[in-house]
Amino acid sequence: MRHFDLVIVGTGSGNSIADERFAGLDIAIVEKGVFGGTCLNVGCIPTKMFVHTADVAATPAAGARLGVDATLDGVRWADVRDRIFGRIDPISTGGRRWRAEENANVTVYEGTARFVGPKTLDTGTGEVITADRFVLAAGGRPVIPDVPDLDTTGYHTSDTIMRLDALPRRLAILGSGFVAVEFAHVFSSFGVEVTLIARSDLLLRREDHDVARRFTEIARRKWDVRPGRKTVRAERVDGVVRLHLEGPDGSEVVESDELLVAVGRTPNSDLLDLGATGVDLHPDGRVVVDEYQRTSVDGIFALGDVSSEYQLKHVANHEARVVQHNLLHPDAPIASDHRYVPSAVFSSPQIASVGLTEEQARERGVRYVAASQAYASIAYGWAMEDETGFAKVLADPATGEILGAHVIGPQAPTVIQPLIQAMSFGLDARSMARGQYWIHPGMPEVVENALLGLPLED
Ligand SMILES: Cc1cc2nc3c(=O)[nH]c(=O)nc-3n(C[C@H](O)[C@H](O)[C@H](O)COP(=O)(O)OP(=O)(O)OC[C@H]3O[C@@H](n4cnc5c(N)ncnc54)[C@H](O)[C@@H]3O)c2cc1C
Repeated sequence: MRHFDLVIVGTGSGNSIADERFAGLDIAIVEKGVFGGTCLNVGCIPTKMFVHTADVAATPAAGARLGVDATLDGVRWADVRDRIFGRIDPISTGGRRWRAEENANVTVYEGTARFVGPKTLDTGTGEVITADRFVLAAGGRPVIPDVPDLDTTGYHTSDTIMRLDALPRRLAILGSGFVAVEFAHVFSSFGVEVTLIARSDLLLRREDHDVARRFTEIARRKWDVRPGRKTVRAERVDGVVRLHLEGPDGSEVVESDELLVAVGRTPNSDLLDLGATGVDLHPDGRVVVDEYQRTSVDGIFALGDVSSEYQLKHVANHEARVVQHNLLHPDAPIASDHRYVPSAVFSSPQIASVGLTEEQARERGVRYVAASQAYASIAYGWAMEDETGFAKVLADPATGEILGAHVIGPQAPTVIQPLIQAMSFGLDARSMARGQYWIHPGMPEVVENALLGLPLED
């Protein structure tokens, strides 16, 4: 049985660990799928390339209220798809080739890894290996809900929908989280009739409820949104998908040409048989880690979606840097910083948030004040004729410490970044608002004015 110094399972953020500082170690990397993981191949990167294309496709329609009459002549789906994957696929292939053929100290195993004993791993290639240290970076996968006959009906997940042969006329989407609403934006901008089926009444219900309510209102104007629905059965009749739903008004059937299932993601820890090596799991299947990304077994680390509650690429990358440091400097470990983890939704409108929502502040009994400022009240908002966007900030009334920030509107993930910076470096709301110039008339003026609107104590 071959013994390694280090084994890394998963080539998403895990693949960034073994740099030149690890050249003296004998390393195995195990990957069951496409090299580069979720973000590169089926997640953040292709989706945002589709989202940008969708924003371009939606631009002519937005021009009318500005006095510009333009029309969308068409969307060449095959060209859109092939531009995106023509860029991404070679990065994945090149990454694999580099690791497999050009890293003298790295052995790549292409199989599904599974522990068969303490620090003993079946690589899924016919070879079982052992190691002193392991990094579990196995990510997660889409949850498939228990809907009768879903399998025989046929469906897509985010892993497959972006590679469709042709645009469908109608698309039904099960789910109401960020993946569901990003794809709803993409496909509806390309002219597809989208029906969004949600169990909850609110889309994006984990966002601050002011934001989730505003987004749901806007979505209902654009898409056929069916909130409060349970999907009781699926079938395909003469090529048409038929979803049988139960809702507030009784039973109904939604018909579509394709179905996208986007109801959430689950960690891949079950594939790893972690019990065989004694690694503890949370009840939801996430690997238990401490602040140094150490699991319950000495020498086994975990990072990213397999252990994280956030399921975000910037968190997986941060944790990979922490694991990298702690492998190199076991006597001086550093901790992950999860104090202010931001997230974004690249739908239309865009959303970004960091810190506490108002609901969380209330539940936790945190003393706070809040202020919201509409994009419509700032000069750039007038330029865009934006009528729905706003920035909302929560702060400690006594100290001005910024507790949370939520932006819905154009370029929200960019507009929020100064607030993430302020929170991360302890800049209070007053100093942030008045201690710097804000470019006039830039979009971040919406943040400046929200901060100035906070009813702080003197
Ligand atoms: C549609 C979509 C859009 C997204 N958009 C964003 C976004 O805009 N911003 C953002 O921050 N995040 C986004 N995410 C989330 C982001 O992609 C993930 O948080 C991130 O990729 C997690 O990285 P990771 O390294 O933990 O896991 P992954 O990148 O999933 O890598 C895990 C790897 O391990 C492999 N593997 C799993 N089990 C085994 C096994 N037993 N043996 C061998 N190999 C195994 C898998 O094949 C995979 O390659 C998105 C996700 C999706 C699905």
